[in-house]
Amino acid sequence: MDFTLTANQQAVAYLVSAVLFIFALKGLTHPATARRGNFLGMIGMALAIAATLLGAEVTSYGLIALAVLLGAPIGVFVAMRIKMTAMPQLVAALHSFVGMAAVLVAIGTFLNRRAAGTLDAVLMGEISAGIVIGAITFTGSVIAFAKLQGIMSGAPIKFPGQHALNAAIAVATLLLAVHFAMTGSLWSLILMTLLAFVLGGTLIIPIGGADMPVIISMLNSYSGWAAAATGFTLHNNLLIIVGALVGFSGAILSYIMCRAMNRSIINVVFGGFGTGEGGESSAGAQAAEKGVKSASVEDAVYWMEDAGKVIVIPGYGMAVAQAQHALKELMELLEARGVEVKFAIHPVAGRMPGHMNVLLAEADIPYEHVLEMDEINPEFASTDVALVVGANDVVNPAAKTDKSSPIYGMPILEAGKARQVYFLKRSMRPGYSGVDNLLFYQENTSLVFGDAKDTIEGMVNVLKGGGH
Ligand code: NDP
Repeated sequence: MDFTLTANQQAVAYLVSAVLFIFALKGLTHPATARRGNFLGMIGMALAIAATLLGAEVTSYGLIALAVLLGAPIGVFVAMRIKMTAMPQLVAALHSFVGMAAVLVAIGTFLNRRAAGTLDAVLMGEISAGIVIGAITFTGSVIAFAKLQGIMSGAPIKFPGQHALNAAIAVATLLLAVHFAMTGSLWSLILMTLLAFVLGGTLIIPIGGADMPVIISMLNSYSGWAAAATGFTLHNNLLIIVGALVGFSGAILSYIMCRAMNRSIINVVFGGFGTGEGGESSAGAQAAEKGVKSASVEDAVYWMEDAGKVIVIPGYGMAVAQAQHALKELMELLEARGVEVKFAIHPVAGRMPGHMNVLLAEADIPYEHVLEMDEINPEFASTDVALVVGANDVVNPAAKTDKSSPIYGMPILEAGKARQVYFLKRSMRPGYSGVDNLLFYQENTSLVFGDAKDTIEGMVNVLKGGGH
């Protein structure tokens, strides 16, 4: 029996996939609907793959089956093993594949169409776009991956004349692309491809590891445009639609992230802001030296167990410590004593958008306990304890008061307005921005030093009557 789809049947299947992808994106905008969104996306992708494989242009399945047999187990293995905190570099690695695929498909199409004598200027323009965007996405993503994985230093790498060099490479690449589209010269194609690979690297190396999440979201956008260009080359409407969805959603996400950090995208791309690690390393003694109070687990529990309201502010450190399950237990024990417990989420807490929401959802912390910054900020003044779990920059009042601070202007969670503030962190080291936190020095603030998970488990033990 012949299962080959007609062009019309394939177009209908693609249209249904595209609609499913749009609903998937919509679902992913809220934690409560994210699973459903993912599921719809999976159905859309399965349908898209099936419709492509059954299309008239696929004439043999041997190589495709081999690629699936080799690639799928690697994908499953990596997805199962990846830690939540390593998600940004995994995403970077995946973008690099999209970029490389766009380059290879474009070159393959050029060679096929040249052999068939069916090249034209429009097609060569599309091929150039696919190659240039794809190659920049590829090397840019590889560098982003290397910085986040610690293979390369996360510090911004800067040298004099960097911007001029990038501009020169960009102009040369563009000229070669125009020459290629007009003449079909293989040499222009090769040079253009090489220069675009170089440009991806030189554009990303000056950016600090700390700004990588925004850059990854930007590269996500580029990978979408590369896919859309490939869609034009292959006359595949679904690829064009999906590429545009990815391109725009990545661009919008980069914008949202920059706005939440009160930075412009230009500042991120050219800024060289934050070097990730930094500051001093020991805890208690240095805290005292700096006039910061440290407190014990028992002190913090003493204040929390009789409180009317506790607001937990999770940050990057909660993700590092994987403290979300212990936090859930703490929440239940406090609630059993009549304490109201809420969670306050800053839009850029952690290292990727929605980072905290995902972790709290993983621990089954009910969504109605989890509030966004604008909703929760008015509540701090009537809160007994703000428990800051591995967060730092997102509560730093320097963002409001210190005009010289790199985070000046970033909206913050107003934890300092609570009656007592407890920070759970390991040392006096600053957060992502490398800026000292003024809230440490406030009268009502104490620091409980240690790994967040250990500290919260200690609190749980004290509440259960077992001592610390
Ligand atoms: P920060 O990076 O400001 O602070 C994290 C804190 O966690 C550190 O002070 C660290 O202190 C502590 N910590 C680390 N490991 C542990 C552990 N095992 N146990 C306890 N504490 C730990 O995080 P925030 O979430 O407050 O802020 C996020 C920052 O990241 C913002 O500046 C934001 O702009 C930036 N950013 C966010 C992105 C996003 O999409 N969410 C993207 C790009 C940047 P110590 O080492 O002493 O333990």
